[in-house]
Amino acid sequence: MTTALITHAACLEHDTGPYHPETSERLRAVLAALEAEEFSTLLREEAPRATVEQLARAHPRDYVEAILAIQPDLGEPVHLDGDTAAGGGIMAVDAVMEGWARSAFAAVRPPGHHAEPARPMGFCLFNNAAVAALHARAQWGVERVAVVDFDVHHGNGTQAIFQADPNLFYASSHQSPCYPGTGAPSERGVAGNVVNATLRARDGGPAFRAAWTQTILPMLDAFAPGLLIISAGFDAHIADPLAQLRLETADYAWITDQLIAVADKHCGGRVVSLLEGGYDLDALAASAAVHVRGLMRL
Ligand SMILES: [Zn+2]
Repeated sequence: MTTALITHAACLEHDTGPYHPETSERLRAVLAALEAEEFSTLLREEAPRATVEQLARAHPRDYVEAILAIQPDLGEPVHLDGDTAAGGGIMAVDAVMEGWARSAFAAVRPPGHHAEPARPMGFCLFNNAAVAALHARAQWGVERVAVVDFDVHHGNGTQAIFQADPNLFYASSHQSPCYPGTGAPSERGVAGNVVNATLRARDGGPAFRAAWTQTILPMLDAFAPGLLIISAGFDAHIADPLAQLRLETADYAWITDQLIAVADKHCGGRVVSLLEGGYDLDALAASAAVHVRGLMRL
C-alpha cells in the first residue's frame, strides 16, 4: 500500500499579493521536490472542493457561506480557495479509509490551523485539519481522531474547535512567546484532550524531540486515536524567517517516524498529513520531502 499526494492547481492560483510570505511559490517548491525519482510511486490526485456541509462541521454555516461568497470566479485576480484546501484534507481521509493508500499528504494552501470556528486568522480561511477530522467521524465512523501539529505556531483554531470534545485530541509543539499567543501548557481542554508543549526562541532539535517524547507522544498514546492527522508546518526550521526555532531537516524525518509508529499501534497505519506553514522555500521543500519519505516508509 502506498501514499497519496493530493493537491490542486487552484492552490497555486490562490493569490495573496506581492510581498506576502504565504505565496504560491511555497507549494511550487514542495511539488518540485516531490518530482524526484524516489517519489514516483506516489498516487497523485486532484483535490475536490469541500462542500458547505463538510465545512460546516467545523465552522458555523453562515461563516462558511460568507467566506465562499467573497470567492470570485476562477481566473479573477483575487482567488480564495479555502474550500479546495479543505477538500484536499477530506480526500486524504477518504484515501486512507477507503484503503487505496495507507497514508496521504495533502499539499494544499492556504493553511488552516489558525482558522477558528467563525474567524479567519493567520492566512487561514477554513480549518483544514478539523474539517478532515470531523469528516472522518461523520463519513467513516472513526470515533476518536487526533490532530498533532508541529508547525512553529500554535494551532489556536484547531484547539478551539476540539477542546470541548473528549473524543477529539489536539497536541501542538510551538514557539512561545510567538503568534498567535495561545497554547500555554495550562490549556488542557477536557479530560486532557488538548496538549500544548512550548519551546523557547533558539530552541533546536533536542528540545523539540524532548517535548514530543516526554509530553505529547505519551498523551497521544493514551488517547489511542482511530485516525491520526498531522498539521505539518515546517516553519520551525532554522532557516525559516517567521520564527526563531532551530530545527534541522532531519528533525522532520524523526517526528514523522515517531508519528508513523503511533499510527501503526493505534490506527492500522492510517495517517493523513496536511501542509500548514513553512516560509523558507528551500527548507520547506527539503523538510516536506523527508516528511513524505517517512509517510512512504522509504
Ligand atoms: Zn506556522
